[in-house]
Amino acid sequence: MEIHYDRHHRTYFNNYVNAVKGTTLENIPLEKVFASVSTAGDAVRNNGGGFYNHTIFWKNLGKGSSGPSAELSSAINQSFSSFDKFREAFNNAGKTRFGSGWAWLYLTADKKLAITSTPNQDNPLMDISPVKGTPLLTLDVWEHAYYLKYQNKRADYIDAFWNVVNWDEVNRRYKEAV
Ligand code: MN
Repeated sequence: MEIHYDRHHRTYFNNYVNAVKGTTLENIPLEKVFASVSTAGDAVRNNGGGFYNHTIFWKNLGKGSSGPSAELSSAINQSFSSFDKFREAFNNAGKTRFGSGWAWLYLTADKKLAITSTPNQDNPLMDISPVKGTPLLTLDVWEHAYYLKYQNKRADYIDAFWNVVNWDEVNRRYKEAV
């Protein structure tokens, strides 16, 4: 985690800062940059995504939170029929993402919960993404996220993720997005 945070994430951040330096994107929030990222070039797309996605990911992690709020639980049951089915669908999104990418729980424009995965450093805020919405919970499934501890066993890493989800943050994001 230390290497992931201090080296991988930092590299995306540094490269993003360099990519937008002196351009019209320099002082624009990432969420706005993503809305027209197709016109901004690969350095902005890949490093902006890497910077932003990891920021959500770290805040997703923590210990001692109680679980989904009553509102989020009810939305989860409505969209996926149960918490176990939701977790299974999220796990499948992570397990079946070929190569590198991210699994997402996100809120659609019509305020419904949905699950997807994105390749590389893309995310559902990007105009190039076939699925769009507001990110609520994400899991990094790049090999660099798990290889040192789990080697090739991505599924074990995904299962262990649920022990350290910071639901307080997911609940906050859900409340804000709704
Ligand atoms: Mn990563």
